[in-house]
Amino acid sequence: MRWALVGASTIARQYMIGAIRAQGGEIVRIMSASAERARDFAAEHRMPASGSDLAELLADNDVEAVYISTTNEKHLPQALAALTAGKHVLCEKPLALTLKDAVAMVRAAQKAGLVFATNHHLRCSGSHRAVRALIASGRIGRVLSLRLHHAVFLPPHLQGWRINAPDSGGGVIPDITVHDADVVRFLLGEDPVSVVAQMASSGLGEGVEDSAMSVWTMPSGAMAMSHESFTHPFAGSGLEVHGTHGSIFARDVMTQNPIGSIELVTASGREPIGFDRHDLYQESIRRFHTAVAGNGEPAATGLDGVKSLAVALAVRDAAARGVRIDVNYGDLH
Ligand code: NDP
Repeated sequence: MRWALVGASTIARQYMIGAIRAQGGEIVRIMSASAERARDFAAEHRMPASGSDLAELLADNDVEAVYISTTNEKHLPQALAALTAGKHVLCEKPLALTLKDAVAMVRAAQKAGLVFATNHHLRCSGSHRAVRALIASGRIGRVLSLRLHHAVFLPPHLQGWRINAPDSGGGVIPDITVHDADVVRFLLGEDPVSVVAQMASSGLGEGVEDSAMSVWTMPSGAMAMSHESFTHPFAGSGLEVHGTHGSIFARDVMTQNPIGSIELVTASGREPIGFDRHDLYQESIRRFHTAVAGNGEPAATGLDGVKSLAVALAVRDAAARGVRIDVNYGDLH
């Protein structure tokens, strides 16, 4: 698969370039708003072409797929242009700033018959798959509740648009709550119905929230509780799923790396649960390549990206208005 990168970003540098290459992908171009930054990025990562013109990148017939990792407000126009040019698209989360825009992206991909995926990496991890399998196998009985904590410390090199640029899609809710919404949907196999929430600026946010807590009602009657923050250096991360016959404790699993531990607790005692420790982003790319080859769907589809955004938007709306909000998923199927 021949890829072009749209966005000279940290996530591309730290994870995605390596993941694409490890899965046999070739990166033929990089585009940035700054031609100079694109050129430097291309030199640093051994890419043959660079530039600042999206049309030029999309006119390259060698390019089969585009990975978009720009700031969030740019995802919509860049994805629509790529799809119009006949390229498959892997887009970073959140897909867009509004539900309407995210739906438009998925519709454009459907119309063009192209693969359009969301880079929700957590559902690609061995740990989350193991938790999901435990739930599906009935080991904990009927799920009563899920508690998820994903309050981390935003490293200084990422303390830019995420904490001070609402127009670029800053804030912890578009950044992390979207991931957590995808995790809950993936683990429980159902979509939150309504949410209540609070949000705060607790030290980093300038005009956007840097912390959020919310409680979600699931169709099954289970309750989900979610905590996200940019300001917690030592909180660790994890999730717990509690059922009528057992509980699952997954520690340090809300992460970009294949780390953490899982313990199952039932009437029989405590049992460590092993899981596969493959690279999360390589798995995302592997599934994308497979989907383009006509075998199945990407790990997280465009619809998954629409739904995770819908939950995050409901959380922000609920926190802003101080009322319970029904999640609006739009009319995609
Ligand atoms: P960065 O801030 O590193 O990059 C975002 C954009 O900022 C780049 O595309 C680039 O724009 C611009 N930029 C980068 N460096 C500079 C600079 N020195 N001066 C001016 N502009 C610069 O963001 P991230 O990599 O953290 O996030 C990018 C996207 O990826 C977001 O949508 C985010 O939500 C998502 N993300 C997803 C993760 C996941 O696990 N799925 C993890 C982390 C992020 P240009 O296009 O002009 O090159």
